[in-house]
Formats: sequence, C-alpha cells, structure tokens
Amino acid sequence: MSISLADTEQWRRMHRNCAVDGSFRSLEQARFVANVHCGHGPGCKQYLSASAYIFGSSED
Ligand SMILES: [Zn+2]
Repeated sequence: MSISLADTEQWRRMHRNCAVDGSFRSLEQARFVANVHCGHGPGCKQYLSASAYIFGSSED
C-alpha cells in the first residue's frame, strides 16, 4: 500500500489531540500516528490507541 501526502496530512489533523483516543482504519495509519506521538509519554491517548491497534493487528 502506498501512502500519499494527502493521507498523512489528514491523519495528522485527525489525530492531533493527545487527550482523545484515536480510531484507525489501517495499520499504516496506526503506525504513522504512533510515530508522530511517540515520546509524548503515558498521557498520550493517541499513542496508546495506535500501539494497541498495531499490537492487535500483528497476531498472525
Ligand atoms: Zn501525543
């Protein structure tokens, strides 16, 4: 899957608020958000929900 700049800009906007859980449609989206929010610490819900999505998607 290729990701366009428009995709990442949309994801960046959708997931800008660290205090809100993110919802994800694809592993690429979750990976992108985890990357953007890594280092924000344990209070960052975007990072936590992205991590949970990635973890849940990697069981095969
Ligand atoms: Zn964050």
